[in-house]
This record gives sequence, C-alpha cells and structure tokens, in this order.
Amino acid sequence: MSTSRFNAVEKASNRKAVEAIVPHQKVSCYYGEHVFNRIAMKKYLSKETYQAITQSIDKGTPIDREIAHHVAAGMRMWALEKGATHYTHWFQPLTDGTAEKHDAFIEHDGSGGAIEEFSGKLLVQQEPDASSFPSGGLRNTFEARGYSAWDPSSPAFIVDDTLCIPTVFIAYTGEALDYKMPLIRSIEALGKAAKEVCDYFEEGVNNVIPYLGWEQEYFLVDEDLYAARPDLSLTDRTLLGHESAKNQQLDDHYFGAIPLRVQEFMKELEIECYKLGIPVKTRHNEVAPNQFELAPIYEECNLANDHNQLLMSVMKRVSSRHSFRVLLHEKPFMGVNGSGKHCNWSLGTDTGINLFSPGKDREDNLRFITFVVNTLMAVYRFNALLKASIASASNAHRLGANEAPPAIISSFLGKQISEILDRFENSAIEDAIVVDDKKRLALGFGQIPELLLDNTDRNRTSPFAFTGNRFEFRALGSSANCGSAMLALNAAMACQLQQFKKDVEALRSAGKSKEQAVFEVLKTYIKASKPVRFDGNGYSEAWKEEALRRGLDCESSVPLLYDAYLKPEVIRMFEETNVLKRKELEARNEVKWEVYIKKIQIEARVLGDLSLNHIIPVAIRYQSVLLKTMTELKIAFEEEEYSELSAEPRRLTRQIANHVSAVTRMVDEMVEARKQANRITNLRSKAIAYHDTVAPYLDSIRRHVDELELMVDNQMWPLPKYRELLFIR
Ligand code: ADP
Ligand code: MG
Repeated sequence: MSTSRFNAVEKASNRKAVEAIVPHQKVSCYYGEHVFNRIAMKKYLSKETYQAITQSIDKGTPIDREIAHHVAAGMRMWALEKGATHYTHWFQPLTDGTAEKHDAFIEHDGSGGAIEEFSGKLLVQQEPDASSFPSGGLRNTFEARGYSAWDPSSPAFIVDDTLCIPTVFIAYTGEALDYKMPLIRSIEALGKAAKEVCDYFEEGVNNVIPYLGWEQEYFLVDEDLYAARPDLSLTDRTLLGHESAKNQQLDDHYFGAIPLRVQEFMKELEIECYKLGIPVKTRHNEVAPNQFELAPIYEECNLANDHNQLLMSVMKRVSSRHSFRVLLHEKPFMGVNGSGKHCNWSLGTDTGINLFSPGKDREDNLRFITFVVNTLMAVYRFNALLKASIASASNAHRLGANEAPPAIISSFLGKQISEILDRFENSAIEDAIVVDDKKRLALGFGQIPELLLDNTDRNRTSPFAFTGNRFEFRALGSSANCGSAMLALNAAMACQLQQFKKDVEALRSAGKSKEQAVFEVLKTYIKASKPVRFDGNGYSEAWKEEALRRGLDCESSVPLLYDAYLKPEVIRMFEETNVLKRKELEARNEVKWEVYIKKIQIEARVLGDLSLNHIIPVAIRYQSVLLKTMTELKIAFEEEEYSELSAEPRRLTRQIANHVSAVTRMVDEMVEARKQANRITNLRSKAIAYHDTVAPYLDSIRRHVDELELMVDNQMWPLPKYRELLFIR
C-alpha cells in the first residue's frame, strides 16, 4: 500500500499538462453547435412547426402530437448529421446528478437492414426503468410507474454520440419525482404572482421570469492521488488527513497564476461548455489550494439549472482527459475552505425590466422597493424552509464553519437600501409615495443612488445578500442541484407576492386608495421582516445568540432541518402555489432522510475500514520499529545512558498505543451505533440516530488518526498526505 502512495505522488508530480483540444475558430462560430437551439430548429423544421414550437416554448402552451412528431423528425435529422447514434431522456432524480438511459436510433427496416427512427412519441414520453430512483415510496404506494416527459423549454443537446432530451420525471399519478418538475411549477407560480404585483405599477407586463446565475466552486485532484485515497474515491471527501503545514494561510492561491495543467483543463472545459451553449464567463482560483470557480452569464432559472447539471457532468468527463478528478463535494479537505454554489437570483419582466434593479425613475424605485420588501418577507416567513432547501450531509460541513454562511438564513441589504427602507418606514404617505398625472405610483423621496451595481462592501458572511441588482443565495453546496433551493425560493416568493396582493386588496375593499394601501402594506412588511435583516458579521458567536432572540431558525441538525418542509404553513404555501402537494413533500422528505442515512453510513464504513486495515497496521509496524530500537539501545548502552536515550521512543510507543486503542475502541462503538440505528424503521428517526450517534465518531476517530499521522514514519504512511494532494504543480 505504501508503494502506491509514493507511486501516485511521483506520477502526479511528473505529469505534463495535456494540451486542450482547441477549435481554431472564434467562440461565436461554434457556440451552441451541440444544441438543438432556435438556429438549428429554423434549419431543420418547417416554418409552421418552427412557429408552433417556439410559441409553445414562449407561452408555455401544450404541444400537440402532430407538432411533436415534426419536431422529432427534425431533431433526429440534426442529431444524425452530428454523428449521434443514440438518444436519451435526460432527467434530474432526487439523488444529486442526472440520469439517463441510452437507446439506439436504429430499428429493423423490415428487409434485413436498419433504419434510424425517432418518433414524436419517443420524444414526448418515455418510461425509464426507474425502480431504482428514489421516490420516497410514491410509486410503491400508488403502484404507479414513473415516466419522463419532454421539457421543450430547455433545448435538446448532444453529448458524445447521444442526443439528450431534457425531461421531467413524474409518477403516473402525477407526482414529481425529480427537481425539474417542481422547479418549472415554481417558475410559473412566481411569474404569475409577480406579474399581478407589477400591474400596480405599470401596464404591459405579461410575464415575469426568475433568472439564475450560479457560481460553481470545485477542487481538482490528480487522478492517481485520488485513486490512492479510498475515502476520496468512495465518499468524495477525505475522511482522514492532517492539515498540511502550508495550506491557505498566505492567500497566495487566490491571486496566483493558474497552473498550466489546470489552465489546459479549464480551456477545454470552456470550449465544451460553449459547444453545449453554456455561457461560461468567469474562471478563477478560489481561496483554497486546488480550488477553482466557474460562473456563466445568468439565464432563465430552468435553463440555468440544466446547464449547471450538465456542467457538472462535462467537468467529470473533461477532467479525466487531463488526469484530474473533479471534487464537487462541499468539504473535501478539513481545515481548508469548502466549496459552495452561489445562486444569483433576480426577476425580470417580459418587457425587459429587472425588478431588483433600482431604476432611474421614481416609479421604478417604488416597484423596486416593493419587490425587495416582499423578498425579505418571503425569506423571513420561510426562513427554516430555505435553510432546509440547501441542507445535506455534505453541505453540513460547510455551514456555520466560519467560511461559509452560518446555519442561519438572514439577509444583507447594504447601507443604502437599509436606509431607504428605514426612511420609508418612518415617512408619512405624502412623503413616501407620489402619484403622477398618469395615476402611476412613484417613490416620494429622491433617487436611489446608482452606485449599487459595483457595490463593493458586499458582506461575504451573509447567506442571502443583495448585490446591486439581484439577491445572492450563498448557502448552497457545490454538489447540490440548484433546483432544490430555487424551487423553494420561487415558491416562497410567489406565495408572498400573492399575499401582498391580498393585503393590498383587503385595504382597498375597506375604502382605501391604491397608494394608501400599498404604502400601509409595505410599511407593515418592513417592520415585520426586520428580524431577517442583518448586515453584521454572520460568523460571530454574538450573531447566533442575537438570531435566536430574533426568532430565526437556528437548527443545525440536517435531519431535523428537513422537518421545515412539513410545517403546516409550508405545506399550505406549496399547495397554494401548486408547486408541491403534501403527498409529494412527504415522499421527498423520505428520500432526503434516506440519502442522509446512506451518506453517513458509507462514510462510517469507509472510515472503519481505513482505520482498521490501513492505519492501525502501519502504526503497529512503526511501534515495533521503535521497540526494536529500544532493544538495540539496551544492548549498546549502559543502563543510565540507555534510559535517557530510550525516553523518546518509549514516549512515542506509548502515545501510539494510546491512539491505536482509542481508534479501535471507537470503531467498535461506531459499528455498534450503526447497528442500533439500523434497527430503526422510521426513516426520520433513523436519520436522527445517524446524525446524533454515528456521525460524531467520524470526527473523533479522525482526530486520533490524524495525530498518528504526525507520529508515524512518513515513509510508512499509506495514504497520500494533504500536502501531496493539495498542490498541483
Ligand atoms: P462574484 O463572485 O463577485 O459574486 P461572479 O462574477 O463570480 O461574481 O458571479 C456573478 C454571477 O452573478 C454570475 O453568474 C452572473 O451571471 C450572475 N448575475 C449577474 N447579474 C445577474 C442578474 N441580474 N440576475 C441573476 N444573476 C446575475
Ligand atoms: Mg464569485
């Protein structure tokens, strides 16, 4: 085993950069060439079909059989010309990642040959053999099978030789078994509710669309080093490993030059992204060594999320050509910053207005304030839910660990916006709102300064920060499906905007003018949502106490966080917005608990195995080296000198023995804790047991092993150390 560590280290450090495959063309020449986008559709579809399909996409209207058939024919022709031989329905099951089952296009042609077939029926609906995808018991209970159905709003694309068709994944009884379906429903609900609120301010808005711009952080590790670490290979994180003497203290990685090997990887990754129509824009080093970030231009929420899912799989593919492994885990290395996935979220109208952008006119500014205040209310009312939406076994390592947002969801607005809200709250209506001659409502006082966009005093410790023309939800983990958080946020906002309208209308029915009603409701909301506004240091202990006093959700146990999905007000919110029904929420929680259990279970097993079969034998072997040394010392020296010279090896032997026995005992206890937990049938209780009684051993065993790493002869240590894993040359 020890040879494999040094082999791996040697291979990794001698590795030369692999040149990226670069098309010698401008990006605009090949951008989207693997996507059945509007340009391709125009070319491969008849004028009538093209019109019908684009209209359905824009308006969300159903597509009839005939049209689907024509689209499939065009799509097939396009895909075959691009060299595709297979097709698949691409979907996003409740485990992270995407799923697909590839079928070849070929069919018998009836005369001994083959013909490529792809009908409208195959495009529109398929039945993946999905019994192994988690459904939280939905399919068992209702004896319904799952099927995948085409989402025409996200264009089909080709990866390698396969045409991939973005689909939703649903049970025959209609329940969503994926992230995409409820995400689409939440986008619809929010679009409608936001449009109605826009109507208070101006005419002509027909739809509002949520936008998403994600920022994906990740680590790269050499593939041989990865293979020499069973914990990385099996759990995507290191369960053992003492901090390197040098890691991120100097911040030199953040501003440093990107190593050549990584540059070539990034170059190729970006080219692949462009071919797939993923508009990646920025790349840079992150704080930790070997950590990097990639961010695209923002897009409509559903498409942006598909692109993030696709990016994660493209990353894996491209990295292997460069002999890297991409780690998407939130916390691959202890003592080194973890990886998140910031979600920049904004709302845009079909008339081109960003509702979170303070405008030049006073009308725009009152609408802006209305949307900001409603967002605060949504974050306040659905505080625990938003946290649950980003919670996972792997993200738990990041949250509250002084590097990522704390396990409390608050919102940072910055000085200007805070002052404007305070001023609004303390103004009389004559000062706060004016009505112009066209009866349009406008903000009564001054301009909102325009410097917001490059507002640099952005508070990095805030999980939900206003950043000039959008909110940045920063609590997501790097491996997550953004859909989880986005559907919760969209639905919460939709529900809040519906409430705003109800509240305004209630006052109007009681005889108040529109401006009076809007004014009063906003004022009430500004007051009510105050607990969620926090511009201070989110990492401080004082904030935890303060947040508790303010009544914000401070729970940090992942299995308990999921309870937020089943609170009566949350179920009501999801049902009223038609995003998820109680039955679906219950089933999805079962899946979440189960995934949590499995993750901890696997980590516990791997750590047990590593400790007992990799580490302890080596520690004992080193112990016997020490014992042998002592015997030899005894032969060579007189009693007095011997006892002096043998003091150190004796001390080390004792320490090693202590750690070895602690590890052995704790591994036994951990196995016992798992056995106990496995007897529990209720998934929620079982997940709690795993969290409370199994997971703590992962840390305590590790502490002892990491101490051993410092004592045992470096030459004997079987696993690549942090300093070897973390610095790509
Ligand atoms: P930073 O790291 O400083 O937050 P980045 O440039 O890395 O900034 O990322 C900014 C992200 O915000 C990008 O994904 C970008 O597309 C996105 N973004 C910019 N404007 C908007 C907007 N109006 N709505 C949604 N996302 C946006
Ligand atoms: Mg960034």
